Amino acid sequence: MIDAHNHLLDFSKILSPDSAQQTILQRARQNGIHTLLCNASCENDWIPILQLAANSNDSPCQVQIPTVIPLLGIHPWYLDKAHPGWEERLYTLLTQHSKALIGETGLDRTTHRAINNSVQENAFLTHLRLGTELHRPVTIHSVRAWESVLSLLKEQSSLPPALLFHAYNGGREYLKPLLRLSTDIYFSFAGTALFERNHRAHEALSLIPIERLLLETDSPYLAGPSEYLTGLIPQSSDKPHSEPSDLRLLLKGFAQLLHTSAEELENRIENNLSRFLSSLTAL
Ligand SMILES: [Zn+2]
Repeated sequence: MIDAHNHLLDFSKILSPDSAQQTILQRARQNGIHTLLCNASCENDWIPILQLAANSNDSPCQVQIPTVIPLLGIHPWYLDKAHPGWEERLYTLLTQHSKALIGETGLDRTTHRAINNSVQENAFLTHLRLGTELHRPVTIHSVRAWESVLSLLKEQSSLPPALLFHAYNGGREYLKPLLRLSTDIYFSFAGTALFERNHRAHEALSLIPIERLLLETDSPYLAGPSEYLTGLIPQSSDKPHSEPSDLRLLLKGFAQLLHTSAEELENRIENNLSRFLSSLTAL
């Protein structure tokens, strides 16, 4: 199984540090997760994520952990803390690490993290340009910003080789226009799509071509209903946390929703992720 989007570094904020990531990773491997796409939120994450990815490919005699695929970028929530020159530093790191992807970037129009719209749009465009120039897939965050995300993507004369819309919440209305973009498009869903009341996600799921679908935990965030949480990390009652191991349960929930078997869905997702990453192997 593959977790198409998470924030492994943030487990150190929840669990006692040092061993936190390692424990989560080992448990994920024991639960059949062989690959994780680990996203950066801010510049401070870039080097630790690259190290995590390098360690995951190390000696096979170590305790088994999943392969960590690194994504570098600045999440729209943290653009106010970005230091001048981040664009050049991101470019340099990406050129030094040919297997690194770009993420997470995008637009967020919710008010609890009010970052100026033009700051968000400029940063989003920078990430897109880097993805196009360096031929790297890009993971996109969009909340209440689909009109702007779509029009910015349509304005580009060329796009990165693949785009992943993480925790897709655009509903049915944006599916067709997004699928018409001139690049390889994927929609990823997290546990929150399994809440019974999330009709918007269920409708989108029923309409997305299965070859465009990915699953994610967005862990430690976006925890789904309690029956889809392995519950192995400490849970606070107001805001439960997810972890990559939950994917084993999520897969069953999504298979049920899509009227297919967990095995069939797992195979589809493995193929989809290989296609999403195929531009990297072509480098
Ligand atoms: Zn994320």
